[in-house]
Amino acid sequence: MNSAFISIGSNIGERLLHLKDAVRALHSHNEVSVLSMSSVYETAPVGYTDQADFLNIVIEVRTSIDAYNLLTVCQEIEHELGRVRTVRWGPRIVDLDILLYNNDNINAENLIVPHPRMHERAFVLIPLLEIAPEIVHPDTGRFYSEEAAVHDQSVLLKQKVSGVEEFIQ
Ligand code: ATP
Ligand code: MG
Ligand code: MG
Repeated sequence: MNSAFISIGSNIGERLLHLKDAVRALHSHNEVSVLSMSSVYETAPVGYTDQADFLNIVIEVRTSIDAYNLLTVCQEIEHELGRVRTVRWGPRIVDLDILLYNNDNINAENLIVPHPRMHERAFVLIPLLEIAPEIVHPDTGRFYSEEAAVHDQSVLLKQKVSGVEEFIQ
């Protein structure tokens, strides 16, 4: 069995509903189970800032499929939920990014793990550290830290979550 962390974000329409739909879709996949999830955070957009605030979560999954197939599953869910690609880093119904997959380092054309921008994103690090405070970078063995996240990025606790099953009800 493999362990992975996935970041999920939404900033169009019923944002919370989109997060729930994405978690439910992953959890109902035969070869994926969602073990734990962070609280829901409301975050200001980073990069392309002229867009609505996001809701973000990080989840931990256990899976028998490899990282490439997990990416395909994530992209299928994005597609099913109606994501349309427009501007890079622009508004989206849902975005599922693989942050970590076991302790693997992957540098393929369509998949880079650890996610290459995770260490500089408060909207990723704060929820990740909530559920996995001891997590380390697979290469350096160093802990990820909130300190590393840029401090002018706004990340506010929006909703505590008591469990995955309750969240996807
Ligand atoms: P960012 O990657 O900066 O968060 P984004 O999530 O908006 O940007 P997408 O449009 O969702 O970017 O994806 C662009 C491409 O990134 C995808 O086609 C996918 O192949 C590639 N990709 C590379 N590494 C990863 C990863 N770890 N998780 C998800 N997608 C990845
Ligand atoms: Mg992304
Ligand atoms: Mg993405």
